[in-house]
Amino acid sequence: MATMTTLKGDAFDRQLFESVLKRRLFFTEAFEIYRLSPNFKGDNRGLFDYGPPGCALQANIVDAWRKHFVLEENMLELDCTVITPEPVLKTSGHVDKFADWMCNDPIKGDYLRADHLVENVLKARLARGTRGLVKDSSKLDQATTDEYNGILAQIDNYDGDGLAELIQRHDIRNPENNNQVLPPSPFNLMFKSTIGPSAAAPVYLRPETAQGQFLNFKKLLEYNQGSMPLASASTGKSYRNEISPRTGLLRVREFLLAEIEHYVDPKKKEHPRFREVADIVLPLLDRDTQLSGKTTPRTIAIDAAVKSRIIDNETLGYFLGRIMLFLLRIGIDQSKVRFRQHLANEMAHYATDCWDAELLTSYGWIECVGCADRSAYDLTVHSKYTGTPLVVKETLPEPVKVEEWRATLDKKLVGPRFKKDAKVIQSAVEALDQSVMERLAGELGRNGAVTVETPAALSDGRTSPSFGIGRILYALLEHVYWHRPDDVARAVLSLPLAVAPTKVLIVPLSSNPQLNPIAQALSARLRKLNIPNVIDASSASIGKRYARKDELGTPLGITVDFDSLKDGSVTLRERDSMVQVRGAEDDVVIAVKRSVEGTETWEQVTARMEVFRGREEEEVRIA
Ligand code: AMP
Repeated sequence: MATMTTLKGDAFDRQLFESVLKRRLFFTEAFEIYRLSPNFKGDNRGLFDYGPPGCALQANIVDAWRKHFVLEENMLELDCTVITPEPVLKTSGHVDKFADWMCNDPIKGDYLRADHLVENVLKARLARGTRGLVKDSSKLDQATTDEYNGILAQIDNYDGDGLAELIQRHDIRNPENNNQVLPPSPFNLMFKSTIGPSAAAPVYLRPETAQGQFLNFKKLLEYNQGSMPLASASTGKSYRNEISPRTGLLRVREFLLAEIEHYVDPKKKEHPRFREVADIVLPLLDRDTQLSGKTTPRTIAIDAAVKSRIIDNETLGYFLGRIMLFLLRIGIDQSKVRFRQHLANEMAHYATDCWDAELLTSYGWIECVGCADRSAYDLTVHSKYTGTPLVVKETLPEPVKVEEWRATLDKKLVGPRFKKDAKVIQSAVEALDQSVMERLAGELGRNGAVTVETPAALSDGRTSPSFGIGRILYALLEHVYWHRPDDVARAVLSLPLAVAPTKVLIVPLSSNPQLNPIAQALSARLRKLNIPNVIDASSASIGKRYARKDELGTPLGITVDFDSLKDGSVTLRERDSMVQVRGAEDDVVIAVKRSVEGTETWEQVTARMEVFRGREEEEVRIA
């Protein structure tokens, strides 16, 4: 199993890491002082507030996302409402199907997510090397070890019955107290409320931003002068009533999503910019590998993966490549990324194929970006409910006369028999293409019956990448974290300049009042260039002040000292190497500006400017 290391390869200590994030106020538990008060009866789990560096980092990640996807491809951006009337989410399938399996410990009253329960218990048994059951603490034999590993490799593939069977067969209990749990039941993850004073109009907080994008499809298509392909994009808060959130920022009940809906003609899934990503090599953990009980991805170029149909089509391959480039751009560690294909039972009710970008964290591999082919499911069902056609019209050069097969369902028969599924079946039949209908007509004539696959198994044209910004942000912080050699207390966050909350720290060497005006003027000069900077004029030693900013991930530092008064020179320090250069303020500002723009590397700065050795010693001494 992959274990987490720091950026420099040392063992990753989550407690130490989280103490840095909390100390520097990247994030904090929401409503904490209430939770700590003795009278508090509520539940604040899975709710977090971001502090100043967390807010700035989040804004910078979203900014990088908008530049990389939205602006790069002229996607049509939307900002839709969170509050969503029930019929919309009933039609989309979320009211009936957006659920996780949950087990109740009837004695303690705990609710546990069933797949996480199985996963945690089996992992703990494997780690201990014993079964560890109440009556059985015998050593795990090879066959049982293999069986547990096989289950874990495809844990996402079990439905409620499958999980119930595992829980019973392996005597899986609440690990906190060894109580037996009741068989899993589905729990819908949406938060429900009502709109206005009447209780007659139920609403939900949206669980994703995609629905607003689908409902605006017709208007966006008109805005785009009817031309395809077309992509819409949204960022916004989404809400999921997670059963038992215990993994910090990774599983929360309110989170920022950034989503894209890329619409294509289902017959033309080539992508005009595919060549730009074709040679990128991705670690792919495809469905077959997982079902064979393995967890090692194959590394393969996108081009080859599409040709061999591991990735279904060019458009999907294009987006997987672009997602990889985005993750690397914001500082994600390439060796801690993999793309995992969803197993058949795991896919959301709307998806026909789905790949997740997973990032390795101290909690294991975590899904941070989902990239699903949602077929024509959403547009078809909303169009059917509302009577508004959500389709693309293509003008042909010449009128074409066609004879078509049409399938009609006898609603009187289908309604009572299939009840809530009748609509899905109706949409599936309407979505059948001509060759399939012709074949089915023949079969119906011969056998008197045919089988029609429902939308979950149809393939049509929509690629839907969905980025959990909070998860990406947390994984990124783990990836860039390390400490100075032999001193775990001196943490550094090697955030790239593009996303670092503050780009430059300005430090006057002493509290001498003559230094402050120089620092202030320099700060104003950098602000004019849109370069976020702060002055630290506290009385702490210079080494301590830099160490503080290393923990905030500030990449550059400028020191103003007594020589600055004499000759206008200042020093510029790079966070990771602690190397400093000295030069005229103008030269240093140019170096900062170019570094922020990405047009000059630190190696180029050190080659062009004089390396300064003055204060290294003090930095090394501080702890
Ligand atoms: P999904 O629609 O389930 O594929 O989720 C889309 C993305 O949202 C995932 O890839 C995650 O990054 C993120 N996400 C889903 N659930 C949560 C959660 N409870 N907390 C934080 N992020 C989440």
